Amino acid sequence: MYQAPRGTSDILPGEQVYWRYVEQQAVAICQLYGYERIDLPAFEDTRLFSRSIGEETDIVQKEMYTFEDKGGNRLTLRPEGTASVCRAFLEHGMHNLPGPVRLYYIAPVFRYERPQAGRYRQHHQFGYEAIGDDDPALDAEVIDMAWQFLVSLGLSRLSLHLNSIGCKECRPGYMAALKDYYAGHISDLCPDCRARLQRSPLRLLDCKKPPCQQLADSAPASSDYLCLPCQAHFSSLKGYLELLGLAFVMDHRLVRGLDYYTRTVFEVQPEVDGAQSTLGGGGRYDNLIGELGGKPTPALGFAAGMERIVLNLKRQGIAVPPLPRPRVFIAYAGDEARGEAIKLGATLRQAGIGVIQASGGKTLKAQLRQANALDVRYAVIIGEEEARTGTVVLRDMATSQQKSVPRSQLQQLLAEPAA
Ligand code: AMP
Repeated sequence: MYQAPRGTSDILPGEQVYWRYVEQQAVAICQLYGYERIDLPAFEDTRLFSRSIGEETDIVQKEMYTFEDKGGNRLTLRPEGTASVCRAFLEHGMHNLPGPVRLYYIAPVFRYERPQAGRYRQHHQFGYEAIGDDDPALDAEVIDMAWQFLVSLGLSRLSLHLNSIGCKECRPGYMAALKDYYAGHISDLCPDCRARLQRSPLRLLDCKKPPCQQLADSAPASSDYLCLPCQAHFSSLKGYLELLGLAFVMDHRLVRGLDYYTRTVFEVQPEVDGAQSTLGGGGRYDNLIGELGGKPTPALGFAAGMERIVLNLKRQGIAVPPLPRPRVFIAYAGDEARGEAIKLGATLRQAGIGVIQASGGKTLKAQLRQANALDVRYAVIIGEEEARTGTVVLRDMATSQQKSVPRSQLQQLLAEPAA
């Protein structure tokens, strides 16, 4: 027997109600804020990701699904969405559009991680990007949209974490301060952090190992090292968030796991029994489009993990709206009735009434058992008598009451919610 590969899962019909709900709310929020959908290839040139996400990051070093195709091209299954959006932005000359260009995607993402609850090798992200403006009001919009999206789902007990990690001008000063700080604690660091201290000191702040976390708590804060323009940007952003009534927690350890971020970074975290597992995060990446060969274009974005959202909807016991499904099951007895049942099914569907048709040689009793399992509102039964007289038996599945009805009246009866 084959099984789904480790770290992947099937989203079975019974789960779809959550997924369609999250997707629907995502699309609705994008329409509300004027973000347009973009669909991107599942794989890209490997260099696009190593260049943008950063050679020193866990994603590029350990987690990418990279392969060579039969043409000798090195390709990677997308480990995140932003790089592809930026590639498409450049490839299709979207910089000629009046900015900011607002785009969103919903797509599977692939990372070779150690699978555990809320962490998979294939997960799905809803993400969006606003490209072409460095106005802190746009940062506030992107953050507000993330928050409103999660709240619109019915989620509560969330917290918004915020930080600014500066720009090309002020980052080097901050990195030097971090290296200085950690130089006195090298023996307390985990081997990974020891190795990345010189090349990538920011990564040490989000290491999950307890001793490194303790050290990170007392490390210098990036917000204390911002240059004047970054300070001004951050303080305007905080002003806008206040204006919008969005409470946030300043989190100086928040740096995000990708190298392309500049200035604003943020995450939304759920508080469930003290456990923290980020629902989504994002930030500014003002240099990324320039680094990918475009003219310098400030931008920012956000991405949320759909699996974690579904997990939290369940944990918080949020009732999601049911998916539309047929309310009618057509059962039959006898060959003549079978033809009539097929014709009736087609007529009802043409009138927009969803119908599940019985099939095979099951007894009427077995067909009704199936109707019961399908949780339909009505069974429409055609036997030999009904086939001859142009009638049907309409059975209310909840009350088991049955009545004989002329076929000509059926459509009207089924269309009425309480028939
Ligand atoms: P990132 O692209 O790492 O900023 O991730 C954005 C969001 O995707 C996170 O906040 C998570 O909700 C989700 N996510 C990231 N990695 C995984 C994973 N391996 N499995 C499930 N969800 C993930």
